[in-house]
Amino acid sequence: MADILYTYKNSVYANITNKCNCSCTFCIRSQKDGIGSADTLWHEKNPSKDVVLDAIRNYDFTGFDELVFCGYGEPTCALDTLLAAAKIAKEEKGLRTRLNTNGLGNEENGRNIVSELAEVIDSVSISLNAPDSARYQEVSRPKYENGFDKMVDFAKKCKEKIKDVKWSIVDVLSNEDIERCRQISENTGIELRIRHFT
Ligand code: SF4
Repeated sequence: MADILYTYKNSVYANITNKCNCSCTFCIRSQKDGIGSADTLWHEKNPSKDVVLDAIRNYDFTGFDELVFCGYGEPTCALDTLLAAAKIAKEEKGLRTRLNTNGLGNEENGRNIVSELAEVIDSVSISLNAPDSARYQEVSRPKYENGFDKMVDFAKKCKEKIKDVKWSIVDVLSNEDIERCRQISENTGIELRIRHFT
């Protein structure tokens, strides 16, 4: 059975769904089954909201102060579970909450979800992945048209409502593309984090 909660470095991660609306060329799902303390992150069946909530309630978070929604899938594809899980992580466990997302949650859910996220999520990290729409389509392969513009719009909306919002890219991009991503970061006032590709 797949792990819903696992630890990696200094954080606890919640793997609430394997669903995703992208098919990124570098997705870690195509390279290994587990990360950190998890042997496998592939759910046989995506867990129900109640199963996820129970997992959080029963987990010993001693020594950890943050729960990160990440895992082998896009958390906003299970929005109802994400919102409920983040709420109990904050209210019952006293944790900070972070969402790692591809930024397509508004498209996925057919509405602007940022206000709902802002109530229970303390920080958001959005995968920028590419410096323009054409490269984004090649690398992230979203199931929506204009995914890049939609992701940028989501990031800007998050910036209006959530204090800690960052973009992330992996260092497999060319120096030129990284520079262009830095430019987007400067223009939007959203900090850019460059992650090492593992
Ligand atoms: S958005 Fe994340 S989970 Fe989805 S394909 Fe890309 S890297 Fe994988």
